[in-house]
This record gives sequence, structure tokens and C-alpha cells, in this order.
Amino acid sequence: MLIAVAVALCAPPALARDKIPLPKPRPAEAPAPDDERAADKPESDAPPQAEAAKPPPSPESKPPSACRLALTDAIAVAPSIPDITGPGSCGGPDLVRLEAIVLPDGSRVAVTPAATLRCQMASALAAWVRTDIAPLAASFDQRLAALDNFDSYDCRGRNRVFGAKLSEHGRANALDLRGLKLANGRMLSLTDRATPRAVRESVLQSVCARFSTVLGPGSDGYHEDHIHLDLAERRGGYKICQWEVWEPLPAIAPLLPAARPAEAPPREVADQPADREQERAAPQQGDPEQAEQREAEQAPAPPPAKQATKKRRRTDQRL
Ligand SMILES: [Zn+2]
Repeated sequence: MLIAVAVALCAPPALARDKIPLPKPRPAEAPAPDDERAADKPESDAPPQAEAAKPPPSPESKPPSACRLALTDAIAVAPSIPDITGPGSCGGPDLVRLEAIVLPDGSRVAVTPAATLRCQMASALAAWVRTDIAPLAASFDQRLAALDNFDSYDCRGRNRVFGAKLSEHGRANALDLRGLKLANGRMLSLTDRATPRAVRESVLQSVCARFSTVLGPGSDGYHEDHIHLDLAERRGGYKICQWEVWEPLPAIAPLLPAARPAEAPPREVADQPADREQERAAPQQGDPEQAEQREAEQAPAPPPAKQATKKRRRTDQRL
């Protein structure tokens, strides 16, 4: 009976072996087919699976981060992309391509072009847009349509200076933002004085509350046409918030200081040639004190107000 079962179980493999050449015929003392199957599996099936999981470190091969789990389709269109390693210290793990932010009403704010960012940075941007910026647009009856992305991941030194310390852009931890595009097509440039100052002030306050570095006009000369945002980690949680919101350009006043009138006296009173001193003194027969007073009266007015009022704001003072 046992032999019959063994023969019956062995028969199909034996038939198969007739067609497929094998190195050796199965010896008589070979284990039963069931045992053989169990013994073969770990050797034949398991190793290829393990090898397949090892070499290419794809996002699917690692358990998703807490950030990745939290950044759902309801919050952002941000598919995971493979880790970037190098050159140098560039790159990082847990990266996404942030294509759009999904507002609570389901509408989308596109990120144009899509930004390559660490999940944490993408998540911070999504929270900022959903909580602060979309409502800001709604406050003047507009809907936010897009963020104007100037730069995201970029393996480079700070301010594109060769040899400088690695920029947070090189760690996919930064976004350069030029403006906010509204659904009516209007672009609110964040560094343009023509953009309502209240809007720029609101954006300033919100980004400085959420990001650890904010650099804009007036910060270092490299950020006159965009706002740099990143999540750099510093000792003690120190933040940098340097963005001077310039005054709007005057609507009526001339754009440049008026040219100095030809009759405006120079300030270098001490260098006055003697003949000019005499000219001045002649009409009133020069009392030195009166002459000095006249000089003071004719002195040029204080320089015109600067075109922009610098108001440096820091997060720790305002928020
Ligand atoms: Zn930047």
C-alpha cells in the first residue's frame, strides 16, 4: 500500500523527467516527493526573492515613513521617488515629487514645476498652503491655483557659490518660491512691490512661523526675486527670518529723487572760494553769523526718504 502510494506520487515527476534532461536520475533512496518539495523550496524559491528585495533600494522596498503615511492623497499629490545619494552629501531619503497640494474642499493647488523634496518639507508646504495661504486668497475672494516654484532639489553650494557649504537645496529640504498664482490668472509675486503689501506681510508671518529659514529681499542680495524656504535644523531650534517687505512704490511721486537744483549750494562751506563768500556777503554786508544762518537755510534738504522702509522682522519677536 505504501509502495503504491509512493509510486503514484512519483509517477508524474518521472514522466516529466523523460522530456526534460536532468543531470542524474533520481536515486531510489531519494526522499518522498512531499519531503522533496519542502526541502527544495527554501533553496530554489526563497533566495531569488531575497536577492530581488536587496539591491535596488526602491521606495516600495522600505516601510513608509510616518511622514509618508501622513501625506495622503487627500493632502497632496506627492508620489514617492527613489532616494538620491550624491554626489557628495547631496540627496536624501524619503523623497517625493510634490505636484499639487489638495485643499480641504478637494481643489488642487499645482506646484509648477513639480518640486523634488523630502517628505517633511513637502508636508510642511502642504500644511502651510492648506492652512494659511488658501484662506489668505479666499479673504480677497480669490482661489489659489498654483505655487510658482523657482527651485527645489539642486545639488549645489549655498547661493550657487562653488565650494560653499551645501545648500539645503542639495538636501531636498528647500524651496525657492517666486509667487502665488490665483485662479483668475493673476500672479502675486512675493517680491514685487506692486503686490499688495498686506498680502506680502501675511505671507511673511506665516512662512516664518512654519519654516526654519526664510530669506527674501534685503537678506543677503541673493534673494531679491524669490523667497527661500527650508527646514534646516539648528541648535536650539534657532530660526532665520529675513525678508524685508518693501513699501509699495509711490503712485504719484516721482520714482527717483528729484535732481539737485542748479542753485542748490554745496555743503562744503569751508571750501567756499573767497569771491563767492564775498558775493554772498555783499547784499547784507556780511555778519558772519547771518552768513552761517543763510548757509544753513540754503543747505540742501535732508536726503529724500529711502525708496523702501526696512523693517526686519524676526519670528521670535512677532510670533
Ligand atoms: Zn533657495
